[in-house]
Amino acid sequence: MAAEQTTAIVLRTIEFSETSLIVTLLSRDFGQMAAIAKGARRPKGPFEGSLDLLAVCRVVVIRKNADALDLLTEAKLQKRFRGAERSLQQLYAGYYIAEMLRLLTDKHDPHPDVYDLAIATLAQIDCGLKKPATTIAAAMLFFDAQILRMLGHAPSTTTCTGCDKIVPRTKRMAFALIGGGVVCNACRSREHQTLSVSCDSIDELQRLLSTDVRFPLSVDATVYGELRAVMNRYFQALLGTQPRMQSFLPTAIRKEPNA
Ligand SMILES: [Zn+2]
Repeated sequence: MAAEQTTAIVLRTIEFSETSLIVTLLSRDFGQMAAIAKGARRPKGPFEGSLDLLAVCRVVVIRKNADALDLLTEAKLQKRFRGAERSLQQLYAGYYIAEMLRLLTDKHDPHPDVYDLAIATLAQIDCGLKKPATTIAAAMLFFDAQILRMLGHAPSTTTCTGCDKIVPRTKRMAFALIGGGVVCNACRSREHQTLSVSCDSIDELQRLLSTDVRFPLSVDATVYGELRAVMNRYFQALLGTQPRMQSFLPTAIRKEPNA
């Protein structure tokens, strides 16, 4: 197969031999890729030490079929992730994004919108020096909502996942983890796992899922904790496992002054 160019985010690197790396990438044009980068551990050569976690690179790749590793022949650094130099929370947030992209995207299944979302989220985490904790926490929640929507897993915030009827707005509503969203009283008993969620959290979730919300944004501090917990449980149900970095996400945020 011919060599092709794209831009990519480094999601994981594994030392393969004394001189080579196996890298997991999210590329804009070809989706996730697992590629061998021969000579990448040498300081000089076609990779110039560019293949660090969460670095954004212009890459040249030869894609292979099925289970074979792709071959990375060139990588030019566009942007290095600096979160580790700023604060522990910024570092953890970056790790979380890398893990979620690995778990949620598939090999050679491109989602340019997800790629662009990841770049925008990493910029929110990384730009400037130390970021307020609330900004990062809001960015993570927004990333989670948007990636769910883009990959067709957006939880329903208005119609019942059981019968498709509009669920009446009450102070607390039932949220089905497997069905994926709010359920009406009639359908509730048929769901195995439901959470009781405040209507305010459902409203905030609906806002975060919409297509016209952009960075920078803030999240209502009074519902953040509940919504974070709902999102964590929803991902666990969807993936059948708990993402490792999930427990490093903030469980609460402070109210902004004057908010
Ligand atoms: Zn129903």
